[in-house]
Amino acid sequence: MIQKSANSGSIIEPPWETPLNRGSFGDLFEAVIEAMLLVDASGKIVMANSTAQDLCGYTLSELNKLEVEALIPQRFREHHRQYRKHYLAHPRKRPMGNNRSLVLLHRDGHEISVDISLNSVIIQEHAYVLLALHVVDRCSQIEYELHENQERLWLIKQMVNVGIFDIDCVNRRIYCDERLRELCGNSIDEVITLNDLTAVVHADDRASCQAAYDKAVNPRMDGEFRVQFRIVQSSNQQSDQQQERWLTIFGETQFEMGKAKRIVGIVRDITQRKQREKMLQQHRNETEALFKQQVAMLTASAIAHELNSPLTAISAYSEVALHTLEEMPSNCSPAQDAMKSCFEQAQLAGHKLYELLNFLQNNTAESEILDLNQVIEDALLLARGDGYGEFSLLLNLESTLPAVSANQFQIQRVLVNLIRNAAEAMRGAQMPTPEIRISVATLALENMAMVSIIDNGPGVDQDTLERIFKPFFTTKSTGLGVGLSISRALIEANGGRLWVDPDCKHGARFHFTLPFA
Ligand code: ADP
Repeated sequence: MIQKSANSGSIIEPPWETPLNRGSFGDLFEAVIEAMLLVDASGKIVMANSTAQDLCGYTLSELNKLEVEALIPQRFREHHRQYRKHYLAHPRKRPMGNNRSLVLLHRDGHEISVDISLNSVIIQEHAYVLLALHVVDRCSQIEYELHENQERLWLIKQMVNVGIFDIDCVNRRIYCDERLRELCGNSIDEVITLNDLTAVVHADDRASCQAAYDKAVNPRMDGEFRVQFRIVQSSNQQSDQQQERWLTIFGETQFEMGKAKRIVGIVRDITQRKQREKMLQQHRNETEALFKQQVAMLTASAIAHELNSPLTAISAYSEVALHTLEEMPSNCSPAQDAMKSCFEQAQLAGHKLYELLNFLQNNTAESEILDLNQVIEDALLLARGDGYGEFSLLLNLESTLPAVSANQFQIQRVLVNLIRNAAEAMRGAQMPTPEIRISVATLALENMAMVSIIDNGPGVDQDTLERIFKPFFTTKSTGLGVGLSISRALIEANGGRLWVDPDCKHGARFHFTLPFA
């Protein structure tokens, strides 16, 4: 009679005096088709049916002298001892090894794959572990391992988002795995011809794909197959709308007797990256145009400022001269006409300058609701793309920062200017470990976000501090000296402030604020 115990192991009640008693428990044990072992809490084998004896290659009396670990290859023994202790602390009926096939060590040293299930039994208040061993047949074991490998490969492919291809260069056929077919919008079969694949490639990219393939199969080249191209797929079956997806291929060619035999490789979906690159390029164009316009405005203002006084003087002098000529009795009309024209031209010049300034200033950009963290990350990408990336970056963004109201391109331009200046200053001073820290904080009282750009370059000396925001002030041999004055004007146009920390002891520290939306 066997009862369920509270901890879900089984209690085998008397009449058996000892587990080795060859009474009805022994008969029952013997009758089981599976190999059965009974092990006590110290790990000693106390009982084994004849199937188990045959399987292990030991007699019962030999087995009775063994610790169960003797039936396990050396490399797993210590781990098994720990496992046994753990099992005895939490006994329950369960398979061992999480569905993995386990290894049994035969007396002659060969290893046998087995499935083992465990149960705990209490006999005369002593805990024992009952092991049922089932030999895994080779075929199903291979099948199982194959299945496991496929599953592992599938998981990796999903994680890194890659598809796999295998090109038979001789027959120009290509095997596409499930992921690759998925990337192609499930419009191709598992095995297709190279021409079938070309048919789904964007017409503008076919030539570059062909060139990459020709290079890969050329035995005089390095056998690398690398190309980026677009796949065109119908977005839905009813409509004629087409969807583009960017893929990148990387493969290696195998040559045999100087001829390309096979190319195996991976395919990756890079659509998002491409879209982002395109967006960044647009941003770069926009911020560049904005900068040019600002430089033009600054230059025009500076010229206007310089010309304003002489033009006013010319108008005033010519007006006085005109009045004097008018009051003279003799006929001075040619001189009067000349003076009149002089006055008019001076007025016209002033007017034109005013119009030009007005035109440049009226080109104001609109504010939008912005995620400042994102603008900073984009600006960093732009600055790095422009060749200002040799620094280690410490980004301290605020994930819960409320949106700000500003013009995206203008703020991006300011950030790029500040990052560039920092990178140039550190490069110029040949700092051994250039570093830029960008942090975002909330100024609750002012209802503003504050961005700080801090570098560990040479810093700003007192003389420079006083002139740093003046137009056309530069200490660089190729500098224009307009970056900071434009940046300040742009931040002020967006309702914020830009300043440099005068007390910074190491490097330079610039800050700007922007109002929350
Ligand atoms: P430019 O970069 O063309 O010189 P800017 O207006 O951007 O024009 O900068 C003006 C000057 O401010 C620079 O020439 C430099 O002397 C100083 N400056 C700006 N940023 C920094 C910085 N991070 N570290 C040291 N000096 C700086």
